[in-house]
Amino acid sequence: MKVSKTYDWVMGHRLMSNQGECVNPHGHNYVAEVEIEGQLNLEGMVLDFKDIDAIVKPIWGRLDHSFMVYQKDQELVSVLSGRGWKTTEVDFESTAENIARYLFDLVRASGINVSKIKVWETPKCAATYEGK
Ligand SMILES: [Zn+2]
Repeated sequence: MKVSKTYDWVMGHRLMSNQGECVNPHGHNYVAEVEIEGQLNLEGMVLDFKDIDAIVKPIWGRLDHSFMVYQKDQELVSVLSGRGWKTTEVDFESTAENIARYLFDLVRASGINVSKIKVWETPKCAATYEGK
């Protein structure tokens, strides 16, 4: 059985190796669907939705209103550092694909049996990571 819940956050980023508009610093209203797989417990649930919130919301709270910056993007790192601004430094280009994998790994590390994370960068564009 699978259950899912969606979470949203706003975040800035840029893709330093992009040849188009995404090389510019900009932001998105991201949405992510977190899918959990498991057997039903005695209450008839895979996992109580509030227990999913307890694990997922702190992760999303770190991202919300932050600027995700690739640590190899030294030009942007130098602009953002030392100002007290909320940033999320990562070791990958912040594509929807990589963000989906990043979130999957964080949720999995928390102990939830996450089976899929789908990240919408826009209402029409999404990337899905299923741990493979
Ligand atoms: Zn973007």
